[in-house]
Amino acid sequence: MDEEELVELAKSKLRNSYAPYSGFRVAALAIAPGGKIYHGNNVENASYGLSMCAERVAIFKAVSEGERIIDTVVVVSDGGMPYPCGACLQVMAEFGVRRVIVAGPGSREIYELRDLLPRPFSPANLPHQPEL
Ligand SMILES: [Zn+2]
Repeated sequence: MDEEELVELAKSKLRNSYAPYSGFRVAALAIAPGGKIYHGNNVENASYGLSMCAERVAIFKAVSEGERIIDTVVVVSDGGMPYPCGACLQVMAEFGVRRVIVAGPGSREIYELRDLLPRPFSPANLPHQPEL
């Protein structure tokens, strides 16, 4: 699938967004190196702080299905450009995301994760190295 097809696929999932408070619907795809695609949507909560971004839902679904590397994340919204938040960028770094495609109404931008988050916290910062 090319970038346009990925964006269209993600947009087809916007209807699953649960955003009754902000009205800002977001859908995401986490694409594993083998090409398998995991979908996610933002899920809001009446206690606002418990809301979860679409990107992390998609990545966590992939990881909980056994993936450990994510190649590409696609984030789309029909309410504006859904640039990933800092928490999502850090989670992307954890799982080796290379490319981030962001699309809003009428525009699409493609980034390397290292350009969006040039200095992520990493396992190298920990006093004890984890077995990943
Ligand atoms: Zn986020």
